[in-house]
Amino acid sequence: MSDQDRSPPGSDWGLESESTPQGSADQLTRFMFDTFPVRGHYVHLDASWRALIAHQEYPPLIREVLAEAMAATALLVATLKFDGVLTLQMQGDGPMHLLVVQGTAKQSLRGVARYTREPGSSDLRELLGHGQMTVTLENADRSSRYQGVVPLVGARIAECLEEYFRRSEQLPSRLWLSATPTSVAGLLLQRLPVGSSASSDDDLNELAEADDDWKRVVMLAQTVNAQELLELSPAHLLHRLFNEEVLRVYESVPVFFQCVCSRDRVANILRSLGPVEVQSILDEQGQVEVRCEFCSRAFSFDAVDALAVCAPASSVLGTAGPQ
Ligand SMILES: [Zn+2]
Repeated sequence: MSDQDRSPPGSDWGLESESTPQGSADQLTRFMFDTFPVRGHYVHLDASWRALIAHQEYPPLIREVLAEAMAATALLVATLKFDGVLTLQMQGDGPMHLLVVQGTAKQSLRGVARYTREPGSSDLRELLGHGQMTVTLENADRSSRYQGVVPLVGARIAECLEEYFRRSEQLPSRLWLSATPTSVAGLLLQRLPVGSSASSDDDLNELAEADDDWKRVVMLAQTVNAQELLELSPAHLLHRLFNEEVLRVYESVPVFFQCVCSRDRVANILRSLGPVEVQSILDEQGQVEVRCEFCSRAFSFDAVDALAVCAPASSVLGTAGPQ
């Protein structure tokens, strides 16, 4: 069966058929099935992905995993019910010892990977060695924090995160991720709870029906190939996969790369190091240069600036004044 030849989706799909021609936008699209409790999110990233890797040279296999992690983070953030920050982190003793991607509720993303040697495989269990994935949720002011540890149960991020959803939210979830050097896309399907305790016959029937519906949409989604995931517009992709279902598609929201680093934040780091430590860096290097891990932006403080930010308030004038 080929759905690609069918006419483009109409307005009942909630999106204009001409929206998002191939590779033109970074956006996240949420959808719900109307007649059974399954929701989904689709994300497509080009410019934001290229911005994320603009300052770093990565071996192709690591770049691929970082791309998938970025799309996965956008999808995870989309499921948050609060205005917070989500961090997807992987750590291990393999060739890639650290990968961090952070996303905010406004869908700004940043990320970085660290490696010690060229990996021979993108299988997470080889790439990370003995390691794990963690998903950390913090509210916007960082006053409360939840962390879920995800064992490396499979070769890919998608498999590990399916396990995460099963453990942390008890939501059966399926995830498809696909990346190229210039773009990345992901699709997440989640089955929402039905009924109460499934005690009556009606409840049991409802549950059995929901089981069937879930299995059917997963089977349909599984027919997606990497090219479709990466190249079709949200409307065309959802039509291609679920054209026999009743689907409610919400307006897409933009996703972008944004680093939260600033000179003020770096000044805070210097302050926390204290004047003695800062002076020893100055003695060694003549200035203090701090480079952001996420965007490679460099912040440099000469001796006067560096000592001014970490000096007690009363002596700032004396230190920062003209020489
Ligand atoms: Zn930065």
